[in-house]
Amino acid sequence: MPDKAIALENLDLSLGSGAARVHILKGISLDVDAGEAIGLVGPSGSGKSTLLMTMAGLERPDSGRITIAGQNLAGMDEDALARFRGRNIGIVFQSFHLVPTMTALENVALPLELADRPDAFARAEKELRAVGLGERLNHYPAQLSGGEQQRVAIARAIAPDPAIIVADEPTGNLDETTGGSIVDLLFAIKRDRGATLVLVTHDTALARSCDRMVRLRSGRIEEPDTPAGNTMADRGEAD
Ligand code: ADP
Ligand code: MG
Repeated sequence: MPDKAIALENLDLSLGSGAARVHILKGISLDVDAGEAIGLVGPSGSGKSTLLMTMAGLERPDSGRITIAGQNLAGMDEDALARFRGRNIGIVFQSFHLVPTMTALENVALPLELADRPDAFARAEKELRAVGLGERLNHYPAQLSGGEQQRVAIARAIAPDPAIIVADEPTGNLDETTGGSIVDLLFAIKRDRGATLVLVTHDTALARSCDRMVRLRSGRIEEPDTPAGNTMADRGEAD
């Protein structure tokens, strides 16, 4: 594993077509060290989700270079990129994105089966126990609380043992207490596995507990001009 987990160089991305085309990422450059936790903050619409999905290889930039674990994503076709993502990047969404017709166990086993892992179900069970859901293996998402569904989603993201975990407002649909336990879980995973964590959040306290806070505004990274820890609230832009 090289020292840099993620290297983004001068990314530009527009999405949509015709009059609805939006220039979302405007010359983004960012390095994230292996094992580092980054809190990505900024107003709604500033491009946080798009940047997260781009660094996770789910969106291709129009220009610029993405290097993940030393590998340039531009050289990969769609199949290679999907395989690379499956091994290297765990993705956690605000709204969990579980398959409703699958049990917790089946949801977590799915990416492992897609990766042809013969131990998919044993591994999935182990990961669900590790996130505290040993008693919920055969429950369907609708039978689980929001916090439990997010734990399943996290177990699914970490089951292939990715070096990088990206999470898009993972506490956004949870109450404060439940959200806090999800954050504790993500940081425990970072610590125990040495994983790199990129976290989009509106929660200033959470962003501050990361190693570094990166602020987006209108598709650009703002240079830090005030000490980390008293920026977001002061500008009244936490939304
Ligand atoms: P954030 O996560 O910071 O709220 P997003 O990355 O979701 O911001 O969106 C940034 C901007 O790009 C918004 O103005 C949004 O409406 C626009 N946008 C996002 N996805 C698309 C898309 N597929 N097509 C067109 N515009 C998009
Ligand atoms: Mg978003």
